[in-house]
Amino acid sequence: MKNFNLTQLERKSLISKLFLQLDDFYENTRDLKVSPKPNRAKLKELIESINFEVSLQPEEAMSNIVQGLRQYDLHTSHPKYFGLFNPRTNFISILSDLITAYFNPQLAAWSHSPFSVQVETYLIKTFCEKFGYNKDKADGTFASGGAEANLTAILCALNNKFPEFETNGHLNTSKRPIIYCSKEAHHSIVKAARNVGLGSKSVKTVCSTDSLELDISNLIQLIEDDIIEGNSPLMVIGTAGTTGAGAIDPLEDISKICKLYDMWFHVDAAFGGGAIMNPEYRNWLKGIELSNSITFDIHKWLSVSMGTSMFLTNKPDILSKTFNISTEYMPKDGVIDEIKDPYTHSIQWSRRFIGLKLYLSLAVFGWEGYSQVIKHHIDMGAFLKGQLIQNGWKIYNDSKYPIICFSDPKHENNPEFAELIKTKVIESGEAWISSYPIKGINTLRACITNYSTTKEDIIEFVNYLAVLKKEYFEEKHLIAL
Ligand SMILES: *Cc1c(COP(=O)(O)O)cnc(C)c1O
Repeated sequence: MKNFNLTQLERKSLISKLFLQLDDFYENTRDLKVSPKPNRAKLKELIESINFEVSLQPEEAMSNIVQGLRQYDLHTSHPKYFGLFNPRTNFISILSDLITAYFNPQLAAWSHSPFSVQVETYLIKTFCEKFGYNKDKADGTFASGGAEANLTAILCALNNKFPEFETNGHLNTSKRPIIYCSKEAHHSIVKAARNVGLGSKSVKTVCSTDSLELDISNLIQLIEDDIIEGNSPLMVIGTAGTTGAGAIDPLEDISKICKLYDMWFHVDAAFGGGAIMNPEYRNWLKGIELSNSITFDIHKWLSVSMGTSMFLTNKPDILSKTFNISTEYMPKDGVIDEIKDPYTHSIQWSRRFIGLKLYLSLAVFGWEGYSQVIKHHIDMGAFLKGQLIQNGWKIYNDSKYPIICFSDPKHENNPEFAELIKTKVIESGEAWISSYPIKGINTLRACITNYSTTKEDIIEFVNYLAVLKKEYFEEKHLIAL
């Protein structure tokens, strides 16, 4: 097969063979080790055995790749992956990736993809309304991830505060603009500050309270100090669902401070924004409607494949003000009513139809389906917490989200304990967890990220932890003897 023009028969045959292999993985993920042990030399050999001089049959090439992914990559879609916010992708979103690849809509300009742009616009408006913005006066864009959405927020805040930023960059800003976020905030903010040329010194870390939320009095203190020092307080980023321990910053109070000091208020709800999908939990996010902008990752709690995030804002003109550009070669017929050409309105230029994964998933599962899935995660989180406590573990955070930071109180002052247990869990391939320091204590962190995680999975995991703890005790005891 040397030609790109595969026949229909060849295509059918390839897709059905590929489906069998992929679905075997999808159906039997639970039976695999969560994190296979990578043998770097073998891995390299496998990849470089394809040298592009000899062309392979597509079946053989695909088979190699599926094998490689199965054997070497961490399976974030495993029900016992209790890790960072990487979900098991729902099957409908997988199909939407396929549809997108078939049509390959060009999302730079409306003229090329009116259907796709209209779908994304519809979703943006719908979610603006869900988060409590006035949808007729709100705007937004899809983004590749939370990092891009947070970068977009900082650019919008700069363009909002400094009208000449667009032409003169930072040359007109003699005062250093300052971004405030809590110690628990995501580090993509520091990266974004560097990317926009402000540098990491422009990000001020606000202390967090005992419950790991942004401390309002410390925020005021820092702002006041900055004003005296001749800096220019630019924005506050509150996090709704911090990555480490699942805290929610006091959004209503932050909003008041931002009004008082004329600052932009951004909420990073990359993971935690998912609470909006369930009527019972949506009030956790109270105050988010008072923000100027929101980051919401669809590829986290909404269980779609990577590359799907949203940036929403209550300032309808700010994205155009920040990103508008006109060129000779791009079609110009896009600006009708609410529809804008995405490339004049966001960071990316040529890009894929990101929003389809959400549109198709929502079309099939509806609000109700999502609401139930979110509840299942919360229920499993509560179950895990209960099981841990019953087994003598202590919980060090108090999150509404299914994020549990725990350790053995007898070993809490020995940072090695958590590291050792974590490493053993990961090496065993039985499950995957991380560690996270809370007030000087190195805790183990387990987060429910998978809609198919069951109580049985959790019981098995907690039983396995008990075995590891016992081994640790015995080893310690032997050493002491
Ligand atoms: C994951 C996360 C990010 C970064 O998002 P990506 O999608 O990984 O780019 C930002 N903020 C928070 C709070 C996060 O949890």
